Amino acid sequence: MGTYEYLCLDCKKRIESKTNDVTFCEFCKSENIKRIWNTNFILTGTGFYKTDSRGKTNDDAVHM
Ligand SMILES: [Zn+2]
Repeated sequence: MGTYEYLCLDCKKRIESKTNDVTFCEFCKSENIKRIWNTNFILTGTGFYKTDSRGKTNDDAVHM
């Protein structure tokens, strides 16, 4: 495919680039990025969405 992937360790976003010389996150400009070799790592290695659902759960608990 010729596409390189990186993960920003600060904003947890995935960075896709056609070159392998990415040195900073294009979203938050952080240099704390990590090269990704296996796309499955993203699917199994992150759980940041749990933060949102936990917030909703707490909100429901207040109403109950
Ligand atoms: Zn970032």
